[in-house]
Amino acid sequence: MDRETLVAIAYFVAAVTFILGLKGLSGPKTAVLGNRIAAAGMLLALAATFFVLENVNWAVVVAGMAVGTAIGVYGARAVPMTAMPQMVALFNGAGGGSAAVVSILEFLHDTDPSTGHGFEGIGVPISILLALMIGAVSFSGSLVAFSKLQGVIDPRAYRYPFQRALTAIVFGGMLLAAILILWGVAFGTEVLPGQTLLWAALVLALIFGVTLVLPIGGADMPVVISLLNAYTGLAVAAAGFVLGNQLLIIAGTLVGASGTILTRLMSKAMNRSLGNVLFGAFGAAAAAGSAGRADDGRTSRTATPEDAAALLAYARQVVIVPGYGLAVAQAQHGVRELADLLQEKGATVKYAIHPVAGRMPGHMNVLLAEANVPYEQLVEMDDINPEFPRTDVALVIGANDVTNPAARADKSSPIYGMPILDVDKAENVLVVKRSMRPGFAGIDNELYLDPKTQMVFGDAKEVLTQLVAEVKKL
Ligand code: NDP
Repeated sequence: MDRETLVAIAYFVAAVTFILGLKGLSGPKTAVLGNRIAAAGMLLALAATFFVLENVNWAVVVAGMAVGTAIGVYGARAVPMTAMPQMVALFNGAGGGSAAVVSILEFLHDTDPSTGHGFEGIGVPISILLALMIGAVSFSGSLVAFSKLQGVIDPRAYRYPFQRALTAIVFGGMLLAAILILWGVAFGTEVLPGQTLLWAALVLALIFGVTLVLPIGGADMPVVISLLNAYTGLAVAAAGFVLGNQLLIIAGTLVGASGTILTRLMSKAMNRSLGNVLFGAFGAAAAAGSAGRADDGRTSRTATPEDAAALLAYARQVVIVPGYGLAVAQAQHGVRELADLLQEKGATVKYAIHPVAGRMPGHMNVLLAEANVPYEQLVEMDDINPEFPRTDVALVIGANDVTNPAARADKSSPIYGMPILDVDKAENVLVVKRSMRPGFAGIDNELYLDPKTQMVFGDAKEVLTQLVAEVKKL
């Protein structure tokens, strides 16, 4: 068997592992194995690629791989789960940027009179331009998304006069440059030199990425990152056409398709259209949190950890509602300990998992899996909601928006229509958080003023330690 056939077989096997990996990632039990299978496939693909490289500066290749590996290992180990969206944004940007760089080099090579041979047909230049434009948009857009989430720039939605018109002009200019390049290739009459137009398309694509993401509030960044992830996949697939590399085409298409599906799922779980996410400036101005008092004079009730422990210790069914605050406080082990104790005392304990609790899809599943919470106890929103009316205590830990009854009842609320966990239907509600401040959507939560709700103020990890100690005494 010759070398090319062997490489083709290796690429085929790698493509199958990517699909199996994605399948595995669709469930918490199989996710780790799925990830490993896909990683093994990627290693095989990388190894196979070494056999097709010609005229390569190995020092540069090895140095690049060493730097990439170091950043990857550091990122996977050191970045906390709550900062995952930022990290994904950076990785996205790197992918999109690479596709753009590949396309620039191919264009310069093919149009250089001393080395290049020109283009045969417009198939390759179309792929080059798609990889360049989509990759550059994804690169600059992802950097803005990263900066907003990391607090490098103000996360609010930037609005300025003629914003949409300016964005449209930049987009139009980018397309015009690309069309003029293709015109020159197809008809041999250049309006401007191809390389000048290429740099113009690149600069305009970079500006377009910035103008696309700047007006979107930090609150919507995870959805935007998922969308940019899909763009990166498409850019990589286009780069695959440029390089004639089937594996890049397959991997890029898988990323493009899964990113698109994820974007749709996230928008749906928030009951928002993608158009609303991109142009709606949701979360642009976060409302100040109420001081625990409604306009009609209703106030919230406060409970001490001792009170809360007494309520929990004698409950028959407890439903734990984890949210972003649980992840921030790293209180997953504490919650597991409390659940085990309550079960020893005869209670049935379940965890209510909202699809967008936390800051990324599957955030709560990953977090609770870290503390070895049995998967059977994690119940999806649609299955747990009918259980709340027969639940003695709903224990909400660091969750806010996903429990806000305004989503069901208040048509003027920005989260109206978002499916929520029906926590307010439980007999008693305990809410663990540090203050009355709002969550991600920047709005107050009526649940806190409900007479059956008691607030246990404090950091989730500290409160859980106290709750465990108090329940043990009972
Ligand atoms: P929220 O952001 O609504 O609320 C989290 C709460 O946790 C805050 O109100 C905060 O209150 C509390 N908190 C923060 N730190 C701590 C701490 N150390 N200890 C105790 N409490 C703490 O989170 P939810 O999970 O309820 O909702 C997720 C939100 O994110 C939704 O609006 C969703 O649409 C959005 N979103 C989710 C995505 C996903 O894929 N999961 C993607 C995009 C958006 P306090 O400051 O008073 O402590």
